[in-house]
Amino acid sequence: MASPPDICIRGNGIVGQALALLLARERLRVALVGPPGAGADGATSDVRAYALNAASRALLESLRCWPPETAATPVLQMRVQGDDGGQVVFDATEQGSEALNWIVDVPVLEQQLAQAVNYQPLIDRVDAPVPAALTVVCEGKASRTRSEFGVNVDVTAYPQHAIATRMQCERPHAQTAWQWFADGDILAFLPLGGPQGNSVAVVWSVLQERADERFAATAEDFATMLETASHHMLGSLTQQGERARWPLQLAQADRWVGPGWALAGDAAHTVHPLSGQGLNLGLADVAELAQVLQARESWRTCGDLKLLRRYERARKADVLATGLATDGLQQLFSLPGAPAQTLRNWGMSGFDLSGPLKNWVARRAMGAARPAR
Ligand SMILES: Cc1cc2nc3c(=O)[nH]c(=O)nc-3n(C[C@H](O)[C@H](O)[C@H](O)COP(=O)(O)OP(=O)(O)OC[C@H]3O[C@@H](n4cnc5c(N)ncnc54)[C@H](O)[C@@H]3O)c2cc1C
Repeated sequence: MASPPDICIRGNGIVGQALALLLARERLRVALVGPPGAGADGATSDVRAYALNAASRALLESLRCWPPETAATPVLQMRVQGDDGGQVVFDATEQGSEALNWIVDVPVLEQQLAQAVNYQPLIDRVDAPVPAALTVVCEGKASRTRSEFGVNVDVTAYPQHAIATRMQCERPHAQTAWQWFADGDILAFLPLGGPQGNSVAVVWSVLQERADERFAATAEDFATMLETASHHMLGSLTQQGERARWPLQLAQADRWVGPGWALAGDAAHTVHPLSGQGLNLGLADVAELAQVLQARESWRTCGDLKLLRRYERARKADVLATGLATDGLQQLFSLPGAPAQTLRNWGMSGFDLSGPLKNWVARRAMGAARPAR
């Protein structure tokens, strides 16, 4: 890049790379900072698959980074099971939509983004931050740069760790995503491999005191535990690939912007993965930030504080609402005792029959509102 960049993005995860591509499309020059040697070919071994909503899909399609169908399985039904017979079923047809969301293979998505970045002449990959009118911090939940800007982060640690892996299933997944709440744990099966697939990405949020034992279990024992926890819904299971784990937290930065800087993605907020919304929120952040920068008055620089406050105002309420809803659900299923159990399962069944309320929640989670630019 001959001239200095307009924007320096610190962090080359999915959020940072998507933002770089959006800004380059607006003819802004971008320096993208990542750990030395990382991100150039995009090859990672992340075992996860993310549930991405329609707004995220539209954004990634507009960047020509949406994976092929075998790596982005459309979900037609989502079945959420309580711990005492309660059940909520979301159905794409009922919502008048082709899918509730798509389960996207993370390494494939990262590779698509990395390749698009490599082909974009207005983006320079650099090993260290460079001066620019605007610095956007996309360093994830453990960002160190935030404190340089005087940001405080309110963090509540959950008493759970998420264990993720992939399982081959005896029966096809039939494009259904499953979630079971039981005994303080939350198990999710997300369909993989396209509509005809018979494997799932597993995210098991388990209480810390059980996490070590489950994480260290043999592949056979782990499969047996999952078969029991999933009520043998997909038959016998066989582990494919590695197991990985993450401590879980709810976190929100007190300020997202200042003169010449902004936060986006997990650097600004993290939510429990039970909602499958973390990256959807991060992608909505960068869509909004790019939109605000593109629409700026000609006399404002990209780092203008008034401009950046428009971005913060537009995004904070959405993130707060998602964080509160997810946290409420996590806490509801952590309450011990039979009365609480009866009440929440009764509430689930009532919610399942609630019509307009259920549809509103479904459409919010589906990210139905944002048009692609
Ligand atoms: C088990 C699990 C399941 C999940 N499932 C879903 C789901 O189904 N749907 C969904 O929407 N979300 C999901 N999420 C949330 C999702 O993982 C995050 O929201 C998303 O990865 C955030 O992306 P990011 O780019 O902001 O941060 P990260 O993915 O953390 O990327 C940050 C990047 O910045 C780099 N970096 C860090 N520090 C520096 C530095 N100082 N300088 C330069 N670079 C730096 C890092 O190396 C990394 O590449 C899940 C999370 C977990 C834990």
